[in-house]
Amino acid sequence: MYEGAVQDLIDELGRLPGVGPKSAQRIAFHLLAAESADVSRLVAALQRVQAEVRFCVTCFNVAEAEQCRICRDPRRTEDVICVVEEPKDVVAIERTREFRGRYHVLGGAISPIEGIGPDDLKVKELMTRLMNGQVTELIIATDPNLEGEATAAYLARLVAPMGLAVSRLASGLPVGGDLEYADEVTLGRAFEGRRRIDA
Ligand SMILES: [Zn+2]
Repeated sequence: MYEGAVQDLIDELGRLPGVGPKSAQRIAFHLLAAESADVSRLVAALQRVQAEVRFCVTCFNVAEAEQCRICRDPRRTEDVICVVEEPKDVVAIERTREFRGRYHVLGGAISPIEGIGPDDLKVKELMTRLMNGQVTELIIATDPNLEGEATAAYLARLVAPMGLAVSRLASGLPVGGDLEYADEVTLGRAFEGRRRIDA
């Protein structure tokens, strides 16, 4: 459609999740017309992410060190782990200020349709963390959709022999959606009203 560099930019933007061809074109032309300092900041942010950000060796949240900020925080309790699908869910739950334990980021949810099974997620790593015996409660905060529910049911069954208290966030969350779309108050309430799962 366009020449060299512009088309390359449109193609790259179009590969991003949620960016269709029209949006890619709009963003590309926005960047072409933007101040050079603004574009430089964007480039620098991308380069920093690529160079500096990695995944926490313990919980698989994004981190700028071997462990993430939450795993390094000695004021947070070690006996409760909240399981989420993605790092963005950690951010959403942190905003509610309801939770003072640790997280475990699975890296997705079980989805037979997309060919994603437990082995593709950080399930083994979760089990290893639970083995050390310090954790007494597991809160499963996977998304309130089909894949999230299937993942929650799977995990509840898997950890049942360990005798932990296992709970799932209360209803009231928008069904079929992502955790991140829930507002802080709704998510906070769902957290407080979490219900025990007896697998
Ligand atoms: Zn961590």
